[in-house]
Amino acid sequence: MNFNIATIPGDGIGPDIIEQTVLVLNRIGEKFGHTFHFTEVLAGGAAIDATGEPLPQETIDICKKSDSVLLGAVGGPKWDNLPGDRRPEKALLGLRGELGLFANLRPALLHKALKDACPLKPEIIGDGLDILVVRELTGGIYFGERGRRTGKFGEEAYDTETYSVHEVERIARVGFESAMKRNKKVTSVDKANILESSRLWRSVVEKVAKDYPEVELNHMYVDNAAMQLVRNPRQFDVIITSNMFGDILSDEASMITGSIGMLPSASLGEGTLGMYEPIHGSAPDIAGQDKANPIATILSAAMMLRYSFNLEKEAACVEEAVTKVLEQNYRTGDIMSDGMKLVGTREMGQLIINAL
Ligand code: NAD
Repeated sequence: MNFNIATIPGDGIGPDIIEQTVLVLNRIGEKFGHTFHFTEVLAGGAAIDATGEPLPQETIDICKKSDSVLLGAVGGPKWDNLPGDRRPEKALLGLRGELGLFANLRPALLHKALKDACPLKPEIIGDGLDILVVRELTGGIYFGERGRRTGKFGEEAYDTETYSVHEVERIARVGFESAMKRNKKVTSVDKANILESSRLWRSVVEKVAKDYPEVELNHMYVDNAAMQLVRNPRQFDVIITSNMFGDILSDEASMITGSIGMLPSASLGEGTLGMYEPIHGSAPDIAGQDKANPIATILSAAMMLRYSFNLEKEAACVEEAVTKVLEQNYRTGDIMSDGMKLVGTREMGQLIINAL
């Protein structure tokens, strides 16, 4: 099969990690008989330098026409003092909006070989962690009505959490569909004891659950979920939650795996077009030095194969290759520990290609 992929290397280590990921995808193409066409486009600081704006129209057009988008990272000290609407990060929000990406999928996977990086006690993590946080991305309090006004105590500010049945239903479906490909368990996180929007959320999730009788559903208040993630994280398979709760819980879930250079993400919309990127930033401190860990981006490409192209075998092949290289004790600097073999970005990429 043929697939068109828009690549956005972006800034800092972005070009280093995208280069290795493209090589991995090309090898997967050879092995399984697919052709991936890559079109490199500008966004973030690189786009500001070249065109004066963080998200040029040409980038939006090419991304919309592609089957999928692969992003490195954007931002860096060079552009930190620009006004808000001209900053590199604006490109990310712009792309999510333009591409209609309402679901953010963040797996928090702790590889057995990296158990020592986890800040939790060994008896809590057992032989590893594998949680998928599905966060609503384009609704809720981050997009609700807000403002300033004069209240009982003088000047006050307000932000409002609003969710429609439609918005909850579509994110819930992404969560249940993902659970069907995993361990068939969904935890819906809300604050239904206090918030009306959460009560609507809960009732819609229950309705959607009826279409997935094989999936076990439970509900959890967000305060309890924050606690359970460190007390007993192995109870979770898929967590579905709102924009703000997901923002916080997905960071918590990723930190318990202890390794920012390892974690991928996917942002999905109604169709198969998605945007795939590592959760880390542009790491300007190590940019262009062959020190960046390319694994988070390579695993993001595996998510692309699975969610946008429906190539499960190919996705699993990439993930197994990563596991194999870690089990052979190869490490980039960010996940290095005593007795392991230190490699750079390019060597790590090549080792993964060899293991495919
Ligand atoms: P960061 O994730 O870039 O870096 C944090 C630390 O982790 C640094 O020490 C860095 O060297 C290390 N690190 C990150 N990724 C790594 C990798 N793949 N391999 C090895 N080490 C890695 O976060 P930051 O320093 O807060 O932000 C730097 C810039 O990135 C800022 O301009 C920020 O706005 C931007 N940023 C972009 C995104 C994105 O594009 N999605 C996300 C977060 C931050």
